[in-house]
Amino acid sequence: MIEKIRLYGDEILRKVSKPISYIDDEIKNLSKNLIESLERFDGIGLASPQIGHSIRMFAVYPLWIEDERKRKTMVFINPILLEFQDVQNEQEGCLSLPEIFERVKRAKTVTFKAQNLFGKWKQYIATDLFARVVQHEYNHLDGILFIDKISIIKRRFLQGKLKKIAATTTRGVNIASLH
Ligand SMILES: [Zn+2]
Repeated sequence: MIEKIRLYGDEILRKVSKPISYIDDEIKNLSKNLIESLERFDGIGLASPQIGHSIRMFAVYPLWIEDERKRKTMVFINPILLEFQDVQNEQEGCLSLPEIFERVKRAKTVTFKAQNLFGKWKQYIATDLFARVVQHEYNHLDGILFIDKISIIKRRFLQGKLKKIAATTTRGVNIASLH
C-alpha cells in the first residue's frame, strides 16, 4: 500500500523512533508499504517515520547500481552506524521537504550494521551516494532532518518555503498533490 508522506512540520518527523524488537507480520507489512511508497515517489531513501511509524527501519533504492534491472530496494532494520571516514559535500533533498535542495556535509564512507527482514544482522560498508542516503535516513530515525545540518543563514533563506510546507502538513495533503 502506498502511504502518504509526512511533511516537514509533522511532529512524528521530530521523534526518536523506537527499536524493533520482533519482526512480525505487521513489521513485514510496513516494510512493503515503505518500499512501495519509496518507489512510487521516486525517492532513493525513505524512513518509517515519514510514513507515520516511529520505528527504526528505512528503505534505500540503490540508484548507484548502473544496471536498472539489478536495483532492488533494500530494507534496513535497527541500523547502527559504526564508523565514519572522509567527507563529501553533495546536494540532498527529502520527500518530507519537497522542492528544497541543499548541500550537506556527510561522511564519504560509513560502516554500519542492520538487521534484514529475517532478523539477521549484516554489516555494510557504504560509500558516496549510498553512504549519504544511509546517514540521511538514519538521521530521520533520530528526528533529525537535513535542513538541521545547513547553515543558519541558508535555513533563514528557506523560511518561506518551510512555512508553506508546514501549512500543507496540517491539511494532511499528500506530497503528490504539491506538484
Ligand atoms: Zn529525508
